[in-house]
Amino acid sequence: MIYNEEFETMPREVIKSLQVKRLQQVLERVYHTVGFYKKSFDAAKVKPDDIKSIADMKKLPFITRKDLRDNYPFGLFSVPMSSVVRLHASSGTSGRSAVFGYTKRDIETWSDLIARCLVAAGITKNDIIHNAFGYGLFTGGLGLHYGAEKIGASVIPMSGGNAKRQIMILQDFGPTVICCTPSYALHLAEEGKALGVDMKSLKLRVGIFGAEPWNKSTRDEIEKAFGITALDLFGLSEVIGPGMAMECLEGRNGMHIFEDHFIVETINPQTGEVLPEGSEGELVFTTLTKEAGPLIRYRSGDISRLITEPCRCGRSHVKMERVLKRSDDMLIIRGINIFPSQIEAILVDIEGLQPNYQIIIDKVGALDSLDLQVEVSDKICSDSGGVKELQKIEKRIVKDMKDYLGIAARVKLVQPNTLQKTGAKVIDKRRY
Ligand code: ADP
Ligand code: ZN
Repeated sequence: MIYNEEFETMPREVIKSLQVKRLQQVLERVYHTVGFYKKSFDAAKVKPDDIKSIADMKKLPFITRKDLRDNYPFGLFSVPMSSVVRLHASSGTSGRSAVFGYTKRDIETWSDLIARCLVAAGITKNDIIHNAFGYGLFTGGLGLHYGAEKIGASVIPMSGGNAKRQIMILQDFGPTVICCTPSYALHLAEEGKALGVDMKSLKLRVGIFGAEPWNKSTRDEIEKAFGITALDLFGLSEVIGPGMAMECLEGRNGMHIFEDHFIVETINPQTGEVLPEGSEGELVFTTLTKEAGPLIRYRSGDISRLITEPCRCGRSHVKMERVLKRSDDMLIIRGINIFPSQIEAILVDIEGLQPNYQIIIDKVGALDSLDLQVEVSDKICSDSGGVKELQKIEKRIVKDMKDYLGIAARVKLVQPNTLQKTGAKVIDKRRY
């Protein structure tokens, strides 16, 4: 089944010309309403008028996550706040987080995209959806929620955490669909097993998973544990949130990117050069319809490959392979995006620490764990009353990590000069 037959099955030439038309409109708009774009287009000596085709896009400069942070909080909005009805944000301390605004129409667009995803997964108004993506400033929870209501399904706004209660609701409410990160699904399966609940006997039929990398063997494991079909959902908050791309039931070899709303390019992450369609590279997204925060050539940092062969489902939109690699040092820990620089920013604000630290990421059962080792200063070490002081610092780090980044960390303070200065700041022991 296809939610928006007209747009999702458009012949490719029609999609391309719709993209060019919408691109020209959005370029005009951002050039005249967002100071950042005027400056960056002028610096690159390019005017909206110069862009007559998709191929011309390479004349336009990229926008990066750094630009989003530099314009924190609302510097990239292209509409007045009176037109903004929703704000979401990434984690991070002030100036190290990014803010995403939505107009009423943006919320409509986003709901429509999620509705497409759900219908691509065979979900109808007769389904009950257990939505365990995080609600709040994250885009996952509310993003899914509005799309689910749009198709008339019954939504359980579960959010993350509290596995026992999740399992109770799964048993008592009998949802037919579950949405969460793949690792959380595995965690629920483990908890279920410990509680003696047969997860296969639940009414669940299909699961929609995303927000972090996962591979085929994780898919098999989830499908086996719950007796469901597991599908991949992709999106990033900067662009709009989840619902930018979705796997269809018929294809199951990549996610259709909804090209009437986004242009996707593949670039060489080192040189920025545009690569031929089908090459592996970093995906770059341009929003065509977003009103509050249009993005022109946003470097996602996600490495993937586009699949242009026609799909059995009848959708004409290009597909992207599952994302397993990043072009930068962004870490996804329990579905939350974190940069080592954000952790460093927390540490430098705490007196008594050296800027030397090491982040160790691993899995405890199905869930990610984060261990942080930080060197203390010589002064703290030699002070009397040191132990108490050290405990205080440890507690403060744990609290700031939780408050600003939303992540539970195990923190260990170590003597000065114990962590090799040149050693890896991040050790990621997880395997995808
Ligand atoms: P989300 O709620 O989707 O995680 P964020 O904006 O917090 O939204 O994070 C976006 C990033 O999460 C993407 O750039 C990508 O690295 C990762 N991501 C999202 N969905 C997937 C997916 N299905 N597979 C792999 N990585 C994903
Ligand atoms: Zn398909």
